[in-house]
Amino acid sequence: MNEQSVWECDDLRREIFSYLRTEPQFSCVDCKKVLVWDKNVEPHLKIPYLYGRDNGYYCIKCWGKYIPMSRHPCIIS
Ligand SMILES: [Zn+2]
Repeated sequence: MNEQSVWECDDLRREIFSYLRTEPQFSCVDCKKVLVWDKNVEPHLKIPYLYGRDNGYYCIKCWGKYIPMSRHPCIIS
């Protein structure tokens, strides 16, 4: 069966798509950006406790919003 005939067959196409993921494994608690979809998509952090917020996975950008020091460049004097 060539590739085109596979995709023309509705039953077969439905069967193939039934194995594919429809939800991300992990998405950012805050902005809902997909972090892990079978493999890493976006750099992220798992944060067990963040100033009273729920456990969860955060993208670097959202994580930075909650860590005041992360917005400042590293200063070495
Ligand atoms: Zn985010």
